[in-house]
Amino acid sequence: MVAVTSTRQPGVNPLARSYTQKDMPELPEVETIANGVHQRVHGQTILSVETSNKPQTFKSPPAEIASTLTRAHIDRVRRVGKTIVADLTLSSKKTAQFLIHLGMTGRLLVSDPETPVPPHTHATLTLSGGKELRFVDPRRFGRLSVSTEAYEGPGKEPLTIPLEDFIALFRGRKTPIKAALLNQSLLHGVGNIYADEALHHAGIRPRRHAGRLTRDELTRLRTALKKVLKKAIQLGGSSVSDYVDADGVAGFFQLHHFVYSRTGQPCRTCKTQIERIVIAGRSTHFCPTCQK
Ligand SMILES: [Zn+2]
Repeated sequence: MVAVTSTRQPGVNPLARSYTQKDMPELPEVETIANGVHQRVHGQTILSVETSNKPQTFKSPPAEIASTLTRAHIDRVRRVGKTIVADLTLSSKKTAQFLIHLGMTGRLLVSDPETPVPPHTHATLTLSGGKELRFVDPRRFGRLSVSTEAYEGPGKEPLTIPLEDFIALFRGRKTPIKAALLNQSLLHGVGNIYADEALHHAGIRPRRHAGRLTRDELTRLRTALKKVLKKAIQLGGSSVSDYVDADGVAGFFQLHHFVYSRTGQPCRTCKTQIERIVIAGRSTHFCPTCQK
């Protein structure tokens, strides 16, 4: 089992602070990118691999990544939590996985070989279809690794978790529900934006103890979480080429947020001013009237 460390630690690195939270990829953005890369590269063979050898970027040694990927067939590219997983069949017919964690500024680009290689390109895979798959990451919070064991991620998948399993996740937990939603070992892939939005749509205050929420509230929360994530994935689907095909640095698409980053603005439902508090070190936004 390869554990991919969460690289989202705003405030830890001085460079990280100047990069706003809305620009960091969350589950919907990662799913959009994974789907876009899948459409462009699946069924192809990796002919050769070049790496930058920057130590932070490579969770597996670059030489191991290169030897695993070279001559591998890309069966599928998909999202697990916030990690992009490429399922591979190696030339030995064994299976392996190439794991890409975008971190804060990591990008996967499918480019023509003639397109100038952008600065901070840490890996270039030459594909049998004639294009290159490039991993570009200026701030180097992203991570690349290979694994021969199936990667399942640290927690449960928020889009597919059954109701009873969802309810069981929070039983007996004394932490605020907002913190529990961000805990990647419970649900993986949920970040700050969609945690705030889901709690708003479920009518639940972010400071409530996770273990004290009623069955009805948790049922509403699961529905709201799936809804906001799916809506964002839908929205991202139309703009996938901005992330995967372009070499410029595009910001990620943004939903019409109800509470996130709207401190002091009127609630879209009741006009009460949206409040901001800090939970688990993260900015948290809610409507004091709609959320109980
Ligand atoms: Zn309200």
